Parts: sequence; C-alpha cells; structure tokens
Amino acid sequence: MFNSGILVVVAGPSGAGKTTLAHFLVNRFQNTEFSVSTTTRSPRGTEIDGKDYFFVDDDEFTSRVKNSFFLEWAEVHDNRYGTESIWVRRQLGRGKNVVLDIDVQGAVQVKQAMPSAVLIFVLPAGMDVLRSRLEHRNTDSGKTVEKRMEAAAGEVSFMGAFDYFICNDALEKSQSEVESIFTAEKSKLQNIGWPEQALEYHPGYIEGLSFWQGKRVVVSSGPTREMIDDVRFVSNRSSGLMGVSLAEAFLAAGADVVLVSGPAFHVDPPGSVRLVQVTGAVDMLAALKVEAPSADLLVMAAAVADYKPVSISPGKLKREKRNISLTLEPTPDLTGSVSALCPVLSFALEYGDGAESRAVAKMKKKGASAIFLNRGDRPGVGMETACNSGTVFFASGRERVEIPCGSKKFAAFGIAAAAGREMKELQNG
Ligand code: ADP
Ligand code: 5GP
Repeated sequence: MFNSGILVVVAGPSGAGKTTLAHFLVNRFQNTEFSVSTTTRSPRGTEIDGKDYFFVDDDEFTSRVKNSFFLEWAEVHDNRYGTESIWVRRQLGRGKNVVLDIDVQGAVQVKQAMPSAVLIFVLPAGMDVLRSRLEHRNTDSGKTVEKRMEAAAGEVSFMGAFDYFICNDALEKSQSEVESIFTAEKSKLQNIGWPEQALEYHPGYIEGLSFWQGKRVVVSSGPTREMIDDVRFVSNRSSGLMGVSLAEAFLAAGADVVLVSGPAFHVDPPGSVRLVQVTGAVDMLAALKVEAPSADLLVMAAAVADYKPVSISPGKLKREKRNISLTLEPTPDLTGSVSALCPVLSFALEYGDGAESRAVAKMKKKGASAIFLNRGDRPGVGMETACNSGTVFFASGRERVEIPCGSKKFAAFGIAAAAGREMKELQNG
C-alpha cells in the first residue's frame, strides 16, 4: 500500500553490458521504468531523440546544469550525459522502480544524493572480452574503442562505492543475478512499508493515515547549525532520517508536504515534497513562520540547537596558546513561537528517569497538540541510527500510542497515523 519504488543504477565501463542488463530489468519487472538520459553527443545510426537519449547542444546542457535539472551528470568520453532529477523523483514517489544505465562517476553522485539507491557494478570476465564486445557492437570506431578501453581502468577504481558486483560472462547467469538483486531489494521491509498481510493483524495501527489526504503538512528536520566562525559550528548528531521518513509517510498518505531541513546527512525528500533548506534556529523559525499558517500540522522533528554563539567571528579563528571561551545564548523556542499558527506535533529526546513527565510538561508548556517521546538512552534507536521507537502523547488527554521499535520509516507511518486519528477525533468533537 505504501510501497516506494527502488532506484537501481547499473554502471561499469562502456561495453560491460550495462544497457543489456538494465533493459532486461525493465522488461522483467512490472512498474519499472528506464531513465532516458540527456546528452550532448550526436545521435548514432538508428538512435531516436526521446527514446535513446534526449539530444541537446552544449549551451542547453550548461543551462540545465545551472538550473539543477540533473540528479547527476558527468563528462564521459568527451561528451556530457545527465539524468533528469524531477522525472526520477516523480516516478519513485508514484511507487515506480527506476533503472539508470549511466557511467560510474554519475552512479557515485546518485548514491550521494539518494543513499537508498542500489548501485550495481558490471564488468566482463576479462579486458580482452571487454575489447571484443566493444568491437563487435559495431557502434564505435577503432580509435573510440581504444579510448574506452583506456577509460575502463579509471572506472573500475570507483567500484568500492557500489553495493553489488556482477561479472557479466554468461548472459543468462548475469540476468539471473541482477534479477535476484532486484527481487531482494524489493523485498526489503524498508521499501515495502506495511505489507497488506501484516496489516490484517493490526488493522487499527495505521488507521488515521487517510485523514492526511489533501491536507498540508510541514515537517522540520535535521539539526540546526550555529556558526562560531566561517568554518566551525555548534550542532548535534541528528541525521535528518526521521524527518525525511515522516515527509515520506505524510506524502504516501496523500498530504502536500514541505520539509524544512537543517544541514543534515539525509536531506533527500521523496517525490513531490518541497524542500526548504535552512542553517540555524533563527532561519528555521523564519521558514516555519512562513509555512505554518497554511499548514494542517507542523511536525517538529528537527533537533534544534538550544544555544548559539553570541557572535560569529569573521573568517577562521586562529589557533593560539591560550584558552578561549565561547559565550552561548539561547536560541528561540521554535515550537512555542509557532504553536499558535497551526497544530504542532512536537518531539522530545529524553534521557534518564522522569522522561515521560518531562515530555508531557514540554508539550503543555509549548502549546503543542501532541509530542513524540523518544529515548536517547536506549541502544540502537534515536539519533544517528536507522531505527526508532517511542510514545506519542496528546494534549487532549487521549490515550498514548506506543510506536514499537522499527525502521524510522515504520515509526514515521505509526506517528503519522496516530496524529491522523487524533486530528480526526478533534474535528469530530
Ligand atoms: P554497455 O551498455 O555497458 O556499454 P552493452 O549492453 O551495449 O554494454 O553491451 C556491449 C555488447 O556486448 C553488446 O553488443 C551486447 O549485446 C554484448 N553483451 C552484453 N552482455 C553480454 C554477455 N553476457 N555475453 C556476450 N555478449 C554480451
Ligand atoms: P554512449 O555514448 O555509448 O551511449 O554512452 C557512453 C557512456 O555514457 C556510457 O558509459 C553510459 O552509461 C554513459 N551515460 C549514459 N547516460 C548517462 C547519464 O545520464 N549520466 C552519466 N553519468 N552517464 C551516462
């Protein structure tokens, strides 16, 4: 029901068999699309614009690079090639799988932009086989084949950034391997969400998600960064994964979602989520004040720094043989400043005894409608981990909801559903 598509990147030297295996995947699996790249190369023989590539001139390519049109782009064998960002994100947001057949530099860029992408490196059994495939493909002159052989060594050195390796000797064996990788990735619970069969056991758990259809949800995410000088800053260990997972959950439930994110490792919202990037608590507050008045819910998943340096030193502070001190002042209380503008689901990361009562007191003090308490002192959950668990408390006094330990994606769906049930009941009086 809430399956997201997977992004598979098949890369390796020219002639390795990427195109053959990428097209095999697209034909073998339903709901799977091939990404047509944009290139500055001229069309060859039977190639068709829009089917094999989108052929553009140098100026057009440069202008698209400037306008952040590409998810990745690279210069390969003297021409430039790139993958359109919006198209890929849109397909994934619709639950479609996307297969990219691109060069290794591009594959590495995709992994940086979308850490969940699955990277497969393809190489034939030996260099002589690579040369013979390039020669027999009949698409390249002798000089071009030599150039591509020279480039191969550099491309192989990128292999360490990939998830899987396929030695493309016997084609049937390679096809079966790439099929296994695809099937395994599709079976990952992270990519499935709640399977229908599991929902039967907990029919009420995600009830409430339907409330978000057509609603507008703002999610704040990641840490904030409070600068000390132009280089150093005060921040925290938040990775941004919980916020991105929440954005994904509300989007899958049918909401129009805005993600206001500090500088996080995960700033990769899916599909049509609108991203607003901020740095410090003051910037984040300004962005939230713009977004909150038209929101049906603000989810404050961001780990906002409580203190910031009183002043920012210009340039880079020099190292000296004396102690220096940093004077910090409190940052604004974000939740307290926006809770009059829309309902707020706040987050509390608590350590030690009395966590529950502190979280409930925080919710009341800041005027939030609900609060998700996650424990910083439980191993394997919370900041810098892939998992979370906790409890949602409601200002209305309605019964708390326990979110069992699971991936942040699972936790996000549970939290979005709990908030939806609460909002529905509040609306119904
Ligand atoms: P790439 O996209 O990596 O440049 P291609 O998919 O175009 O490579 O494959 C290069 C050539 O090798 C093509 O002629 C293709 O039909 C052939 N080929 C691909 N895989 C195999 C294989 N396992 N055995 C034999 N030939 C292959
Ligand atoms: P060709 O000109 O033979 O079609 O492709 C040359 C190389 O460019 C191949 O290695 C191919 O995978 C790579 N390529 C094709 N499209 C893209 C793209 O969108 N991005 C990147 N980085 N490489 C691409």
